[in-house]
Order: sequence, then C-alpha cells, then structure tokens
Amino acid sequence: MSNGRLLISYAHPDDESFGLGGLIAAYVARGVDVYLICATNGDAGTVTPEFLNGYKSVAELRLAELERASEILKLKHVYKLGYKDSGMMGSETSHDPHSLWQASQDEVARRVVEVIREVKPQVVITFNKYGGYGHPDHIAIQRATTQAFTAASDPTYDTGQPPYQPQKLYYSGISTWQIRFGIALMRLRGQDPRRVGINKDIDIQAILEHAEPTHATINVGRYFDIWERASACHSSQLGGARSFRLPLSLRRWLAPMQGFTRIYPAPARSRIDERDLFAGVKLDKPIPAL
Ligand SMILES: [Zn+2]
Repeated sequence: MSNGRLLISYAHPDDESFGLGGLIAAYVARGVDVYLICATNGDAGTVTPEFLNGYKSVAELRLAELERASEILKLKHVYKLGYKDSGMMGSETSHDPHSLWQASQDEVARRVVEVIREVKPQVVITFNKYGGYGHPDHIAIQRATTQAFTAASDPTYDTGQPPYQPQKLYYSGISTWQIRFGIALMRLRGQDPRRVGINKDIDIQAILEHAEPTHATINVGRYFDIWERASACHSSQLGGARSFRLPLSLRRWLAPMQGFTRIYPAPARSRIDERDLFAGVKLDKPIPAL
C-alpha cells in the first residue's frame, strides 16, 4: 500500500475532472494514491442525442466518460455508489426515491465509512456546504462525507472493519475574488449571473453568498494540460458547462490558485495559508514537495 492516500468524495461523473483534475494529477505525480467516490451515475445530465450513439442510457455514457477520465488522471480506484442523479433542486428527478437527494443521509454516510475504512486516506476532500453551486447531490454527499469522516473512527460504528481516523478534511471551494471576477466577466458579456448554464439554473451570485473561507491554496498550474484532457473526456457535459466555464486563457491563469476550506482539524485562526493538503500529515515516508 502506498504511503500517501487522498480520497475525493463527489457526486457525478465529471465533478472530479472539471473541479479537481489538476489537483488529482499534482498529487498522483507526487506518488499519492488518489481514490474517488462517485455517488451517482449522472443520469440527469443534459445530453444531446449524438452523444448517446452506442450507449443504452445517459448513465452508461457518463460512466464510460468517467472511466476514460480516471485513466488519464491515474485514479487508483473509483467507488461508484450507484445512486440516481437528482438533477437540480426542485426538479422531478430530485423526487425520485432512488436519487441521492432522497436517500437517507445515514445510509449514504455508511457507504462512505466503508470506503474510508478500506482506503484509509490521510486526507479527504468533499464539496462545501452549498455543494459548490447548490446542486442537491453535491450537498447530499457533502453531508454524508462530513458525517462519515467522524463516524469512521468510532469503534461502536460497526461495518465489520476496524475503525480508522483520517487526519484532514477539506471542502473544495472557489475563492470569493475569483467568483467576483467571474460575475464581472459575465456582466461584461451581457449574461445574468443569477441565471447561468444550459438550463439557466445556476446562480453565481448565490455561490458568492455561500462561499467559505480559503485555508489552503494549491498550485496545480503544471498539471493544467492533464486537467484539460480529463475534462475533455466528459464531452457530453462540456456543451452545458461552456456557458459558465471561464475561457481557456483565464482557466490557465487561475490554475495555480485552487482553494480549499479546512474543516478538520479546525483552523485555530480564521486565516491560515497552507500550500499543501498533506502539510502536517503524519506519514511513514514523506511525499516529495509539489
Ligand atoms: Zn456534479
């Protein structure tokens, strides 16, 4: 078993690449084993018919895209929890009893505890409380992962595996200045920041209102090309993402500044400035610097 282990607990096939493709590549390059929980099958993604050629369903297509992205990112293993994608808040799919949003938090947390106890990651990443941009599946996996992070070390919480305590928990986030910058850019392009995306259901102003403090800033600029290649694997979703993704030159410029909120151990001061998610992590053999 390799020494450094990072677990990312996310909701959809594409979250890992769009959000953390550069970060994953940076840690893999340092010899860290990166594991992914993908809680849903991405069933509710908006897909134009030409992408469905050769696939029985949107879920099958999106899991195939994830498979290709995980090869590029060299993920050690992807744990697919198999829930149905809930779609956006209030949509018909969010009422589906098999959706992640309708699943009991305790049940999802148990699945995450089982993965944590199997993988034994030192560092865990999930979404922030607002689920990045208010997506119910992002919020559901954030709640379940936060619960599981504590429950995994509880000897009375029985999964038939020994208890295990990861050392750090982070929420992924975007720093407020980057969101403000994005809003200004949208206004310049004549876009309404409260109605963004292919279905006009993403509210960038609300993302700003729910932003959490940045405690760690990771430079993943050197891995930008792998990040773009992994994102390109999710081509069925790129059309929809285009309307709120920043232009390539700006993405490249911002890549050195991936922000994270440290939840555990809780920062003693409101401002801490880590440059490595493994800073202070106890390992048998230290991993090389970024
Ligand atoms: Zn997502």
